[in-house]
Amino acid sequence: MPDRWQTLLQLARAAHADHPDLRAFCDFPDDLSRLPANQHRIPATDLLEAETGLISDDRHSAFRDGFIGCAPLADWRQTYKDTNIGADFLNRFGCYELIGLEGTFHSHQMRGFVVYSPADLHYPWHHHPAEELYLVLAGEAEFCIHGEKPKTLRPGDTTYHASMVPHAMTTHDHPVMAYVLWRGNLMDPPVLTHAEMAP
Ligand code: ZN
Repeated sequence: MPDRWQTLLQLARAAHADHPDLRAFCDFPDDLSRLPANQHRIPATDLLEAETGLISDDRHSAFRDGFIGCAPLADWRQTYKDTNIGADFLNRFGCYELIGLEGTFHSHQMRGFVVYSPADLHYPWHHHPAEELYLVLAGEAEFCIHGEKPKTLRPGDTTYHASMVPHAMTTHDHPVMAYVLWRGNLMDPPVLTHAEMAP
C-alpha cells in the first residue's frame, strides 16, 4: 500500500513546481525529515470526512484528495483553542501541518499547512510575523486583507499576507480548502487582531 504521507509530499512538491506564485514565495525545502505520526482528531476532521462541497479543478483535485487522504492520520490543530474565538469556529475550522517545525515532514525553511473551513464560517482578523501565501485547492472563500478590498478566491487563486498585516477569511455558500505556506519568522503563532478587545 502506498504511503499516503509520501504521496502527499510529492503532490506538494509538484504543486510548488507548477504554480509560479508558490515558486516565487520560497524554494521547496531541501532539509525535510519524517517525524513520527501523532494522530489527533478535532471536530473539523469529522466534518471534512463528510464534506461534499469541495469542488476543485483538474489541476488541484489530486492535491485536495491527498490532504483528505491524510486527514485521519494527521495531527489536527485548534490554534485558537485558548482564545475567545467562540465555539462555532472551534467546532468547525481545522488545519494540520504537512511541512515545517511541527509537520509530518520537519523543515526549518518553511511551513506548509492545509486549512479547511466548512460553508458559512468567519475566520476573524488575525496576524502573525510570518509572511504567508494561500493557494485555494477547492471550494471558495472571501479573503480580506487590512486596507484592501475583499476578494473571492477559487481553485488556483493565491493571496499573500505580509508580516503582521491583519487578514480574515469568510466562507459563504461553499466550503474551502487551501494550502498555506509560511516563510520568515516560523516560530510565532497567529494571534487574533482584536484580542485586546475581548470581553
Ligand atoms: Zn495568516
